[in-house]
Amino acid sequence: MAQANLTINLDAVADNWRALDARTGPDTETAAVVKADGYGLGAERVAARLAATGARTFFVATAAEGARVRQTVGEVPAIAVFSGHMDGDTDLIRAHDLIPMLNSTAQVDRHLDALPDARFGVQLDSGMNRLGMEPAEWDSQKTRLLERGPWLVMSHLACADEPEHPMNAQQLAGFRAMTDGLGLRRSLSATGGILLGPDYHFDLTRPGIGLYGGAPFSAAVPAVQLAIPVIQCRDVALGETVGYGNAWIASRPSRIATIAAGYADGLLRSLSGKATLFAGATPCPLVGRVSMDLLTIDVTDLDEDPETLEILGPYQGVDALADAAGTIGYEILTSLGARYDRRYNRF
Ligand SMILES: *Cc1c(COP(=O)(O)O)cnc(C)c1O
Repeated sequence: MAQANLTINLDAVADNWRALDARTGPDTETAAVVKADGYGLGAERVAARLAATGARTFFVATAAEGARVRQTVGEVPAIAVFSGHMDGDTDLIRAHDLIPMLNSTAQVDRHLDALPDARFGVQLDSGMNRLGMEPAEWDSQKTRLLERGPWLVMSHLACADEPEHPMNAQQLAGFRAMTDGLGLRRSLSATGGILLGPDYHFDLTRPGIGLYGGAPFSAAVPAVQLAIPVIQCRDVALGETVGYGNAWIASRPSRIATIAAGYADGLLRSLSGKATLFAGATPCPLVGRVSMDLLTIDVTDLDEDPETLEILGPYQGVDALADAAGTIGYEILTSLGARYDRRYNRF
């Protein structure tokens, strides 16, 4: 079969959720962020598994994502939407009992007009300047929002993956200044914030990347393995070239394997000449440019031609591959293509 195998280990995702949950005290709930199709791993499968593991709250980016998650987790878990109550979302919010995190006065107006009795949360800006109400706006909306009892107020940290960054303490102070003494349920931390310690935990945490095995949760168990079948192998003489643009020139007589995945499968073109694949534990360099459907790999040093080569797995995690591509693990995961044969298994 010329299709690469993507194996997703939901046991690892569940273990990572439990490990992050154990980093916070008993009064802090650990939610799960399953936006962008569960960071590319399959939002339905991930959410169903985490609900069975004990997660009671899920976060998504859009109402449409929330509707999909609702189908698999049933009526009980809370599903909150980071983008809030957007124009046109009212029917989805009502039909699937979603909780919009209201980001602006316009969203507050829209929500209270359309669904005056439905739950909502509030997102506050503590300095990232991306989503949420700024302090003055929050002050102007507070009275009518507090009257109705927000389900949660939250903010998001810009630099939580850098523990020493002064922005962390600054945002913590800003969030506290906006929310202390109001008796509200609060959330500040994603994966990085959980690792910053108890001051950052409040009532609920919102891990995403750590569940899926990525930095900054260095204790995470890898959750994905990607094995790519070899289509053909050939001998390349000293001085011959491989691939588009003649970007690689053999500096010795070489054996080159052509394998069945490329940038159309999320193996970013910036990996050209930089990535490493693995035959068992043996590293084999990617040579030349990444094509749409193909990669070319130097397998000269192997004893025999391989049947498959691994690009993600026990010998190379998402962060190592991300480094080679000049990006972050989040982008590697959310780029994983639709063409893979996806299996949910241990590996
Ligand atoms: C994506 C996101 C998260 C999860 O972040 P990770 O770094 O993946 O843990 C939490 N909160 C908000 C607002 C987000 O956008």
